[in-house]
Amino acid sequence: MSAAPDLVVIGGGIAGASIAYELAASRSVLLLEAEPTLAVHSTARSAATYIPGHGTAPVRALITASGPRFAALAGALCDGGAAPLLTPRPVLWAAFDDAGERALHGLLAERAGEPDAPRPVSTAEALRRCPVLRPGALRGAGLTEVSADVDAMALHQAYVRGLRRRGATVRTGARVTAVRATAGGWRVEVAGSTGVDGAAGAAAFEVADVVDAAGAWADVVATMAEVPPIGLTPLRRTIAVARVPDPARLRVGGGMPLPMVVEAGERFYFKAEGEHLLVSPGDETPAEPGDARPCDLDVATALERAEAVTGLGLRSIRTSWAGLRSFVADRSPVVGSRPEHPGFHFFAGQGGSGIESAPALAALGAAVITGGPVPADIPVAPAVLTPTRFA
Ligand SMILES: Cc1cc2nc3c(=O)[nH]c(=O)nc-3n(C[C@H](O)[C@H](O)[C@H](O)COP(=O)(O)OP(=O)(O)OC[C@H]3O[C@@H](n4cnc5c(N)ncnc54)[C@H](O)[C@@H]3O)c2cc1C
Repeated sequence: MSAAPDLVVIGGGIAGASIAYELAASRSVLLLEAEPTLAVHSTARSAATYIPGHGTAPVRALITASGPRFAALAGALCDGGAAPLLTPRPVLWAAFDDAGERALHGLLAERAGEPDAPRPVSTAEALRRCPVLRPGALRGAGLTEVSADVDAMALHQAYVRGLRRRGATVRTGARVTAVRATAGGWRVEVAGSTGVDGAAGAAAFEVADVVDAAGAWADVVATMAEVPPIGLTPLRRTIAVARVPDPARLRVGGGMPLPMVVEAGERFYFKAEGEHLLVSPGDETPAEPGDARPCDLDVATALERAEAVTGLGLRSIRTSWAGLRSFVADRSPVVGSRPEHPGFHFFAGQGGSGIESAPALAALGAAVITGGPVPADIPVAPAVLTPTRFA
């Protein structure tokens, strides 16, 4: 980095990397990550899906606006025309019981008229597109055609490559232990650092702005800075990769990918991963910020729910993991500062959409933090995401 930093981003997951990249276009940025390597918490544990129509209205708008931005990022930051960041895979929103039917009707009605909205499909069409489902189990369905798998780690690496090109510095093993308001901005103290781009060891930085992109820890960081928390609740979610005795059942004719199946109330979902099936029970168990671990009951529930509607013979798992999806009360992200604490900016609360919404959310966040205009392709007013909405 050529100049001393004037802005610190705390957190090296997708939130921190993406906002640091956008801000490094106009500011001298230092990114601080507590762990020895970047992106080991939520960002490394996602289901890696891009699903227009997922989440609250502002989140859905951010996801849709991110679509073309993924392609632009791949062109700009994935050297040598590497694999695309998005690989198409439709999503089938499926109802299997009364609650599922109610959720499906609500979902289709709420999203009707939105760009890339799911369209209702007959059970016959759903079974043709997704023959892995048991015919008697399905009661109703909707289809999102424009959804995709995201290469989440390639996206993260692209942002890190891009922020370095823009002159920003990354320090890993650099846990922020104190954030204090000063006359001109903020003093940020770091316990130690393995010094990926900079010098190792404890350090303190005097900067004009701090961006709190610490994921599940965002309120811990805010409290450290004596800034009122935003009421973030980390919710544990589990994923297991199950063995499929007859993997040929995961293939659809005509070279079409098997859709990802999401129970309409998000009580479980599954998608093919090569010869295996990635399954989640859609759990949302409140947890402390930390290194989330899967519990056996959640893994068993995921297998049981997917088995009940497919009959694939799911009995054993290859691997499983869990991560935290952190939400505030209205389940939309929190972007910006409070007037009483100028220069302390939240970039948190991405919940279950931090990957799929990252390109648009980071561009919007950088506009809010630098006081610039929100790009015209992002139809979300900053006021919708401001931390002052909790006042
Ligand atoms: C099972 C699961 C499935 C998901 N599926 C999807 C999906 O399909 N699509 C999608 O878009 N999203 C999905 N998500 C959500 C997505 O993963 C998150 O929204 C996103 O990763 C959040 O990124 P983050 O950078 O805020 O958090 P993190 O990746 O957790 O990064 C926060 C970082 O801050 C660091 N940090 C904390 N405190 C400090 C400190 N004091 N000093 C320095 N660093 C600090 C942490 O070490 C951590 O690395 C899923 C999440 C889970 C758990």
